[in-house]
Amino acid sequence: MFRVSREIHFCYGHRLLNYDGKCRYLHGHNGRAVITLEASHLDELGMVVDFTRIKQVVQTWIDEHLDHKMLLHRDDPLLPYLRQQGEPVVVVDFNPTAENIARLIFEYAAGQGFPVVEVQLWETETCFASYRGSREGIAVDEPGFPAGEALKTERFGKNQRFPA
Ligand SMILES: [Zn+2]
Repeated sequence: MFRVSREIHFCYGHRLLNYDGKCRYLHGHNGRAVITLEASHLDELGMVVDFTRIKQVVQTWIDEHLDHKMLLHRDDPLLPYLRQQGEPVVVVDFNPTAENIARLIFEYAAGQGFPVVEVQLWETETCFASYRGSREGIAVDEPGFPAGEALKTERFGKNQRFPA
């Protein structure tokens, strides 16, 4: 098996609901996503996937949808106020932990056809969460995630819950 990984840096804000630690308050991170792709065969150029292509697709999406945005649970009571103030908020159905953000990025990359096997989300220099899935079956049947075909990001699009 061959593997390639690409790092993508972005800034995001969040806070966690029903949480006792300091992450219950609004704050931000300089996040680092590490997207890992795997293939048993290389393309005609001898690559799994061109690093440039990962950047073009995944980084563009992260820049547009996550970078410098506040990720909040849809039940967050601050949501109406921040929206009213025109703050760029990303509404998610889950607590916006590093684990869930890793999964969000994983599902986007997989939905774009990349043979992604793991996404790590480094929240700080010393802490990261990762999400792994198979290229074939992305497990999206757990509570908080849509069942079946719809990838999380597409569902956001349909419901227009991501800012345009
Ligand atoms: Zn945090």
